[in-house]
Amino acid sequence: MKITFLGTGTSHGVPVIGCTDEVCLSNNSKDNRLRTSVLVEWDDFTFVIDCGPDFRQQMLAANVSDINGIIFTHFHADHTAGLDDIRPFSQKYGYVPLFAQIDVINNLKERFEYIFTTENKYWGAPSIKSTIIENTPFNLENKEVIPIKVKHGKLDIFGYRFDDIAYITDASFISDIEKEKLQNLDVLVVNALRIDFHPTHFNLQKALDLIDKVKPKKAYLTHISHKLGLHDTVSKLLPDNVFLAYDGLQIKV
Ligand SMILES: [Zn+2]
Ligand SMILES: [Zn+2]
Repeated sequence: MKITFLGTGTSHGVPVIGCTDEVCLSNNSKDNRLRTSVLVEWDDFTFVIDCGPDFRQQMLAANVSDINGIIFTHFHADHTAGLDDIRPFSQKYGYVPLFAQIDVINNLKERFEYIFTTENKYWGAPSIKSTIIENTPFNLENKEVIPIKVKHGKLDIFGYRFDDIAYITDASFISDIEKEKLQNLDVLVVNALRIDFHPTHFNLQKALDLIDKVKPKKAYLTHISHKLGLHDTVSKLLPDNVFLAYDGLQIKV
């Protein structure tokens, strides 16, 4: 199984439009971060987690020609706004399978009414087939996926565990019951927005606290803002088994 980080940036992306801080002006490509998303590949099938505004660019950068579906963490625009760009896939296969909680599907139906409608659909509009998931294991093809319910501010959103990899973004709190699902991981991917406290996302310390508690073999931080600091500087401060993810990074398990 292989994970490719398609984007590792917070909602603004990095650089932030108009910002002249050292991170946004950095020449290191690892400081350029598209909106958070990953590609999850098994031998026979490939899924994308989230479909933000950089989706098209991310599919091109990772040279993706086929996907079997999209799994959503939550409905915020930085994770969903690229939905129109699934057209090459829906034209090829007739539709793209979407997997998400009911509140995400309902939100997408409002915002992308022209995609979900079955009447008077305009020519060329994307087509989807949605599957509602709850906080109970489900299958993608023959692979079991375990949702992990986390708080993102007041919102209940999902992270996902595939075998011994877990992917959590936009969390600000995880209950002890849900943390049980994070035992014995080879890899934990978790969000770390910045150094200072933030009400709806883990800051660096909270991400490190979670890692310390559930003790994965390795951890990768994502959903990073320009306020976390330079990739190379922050990387030196991290424990030996914790890494800042960057766009294009691939990990195999
Ligand atoms: Zn986000
Ligand atoms: Zn969010």
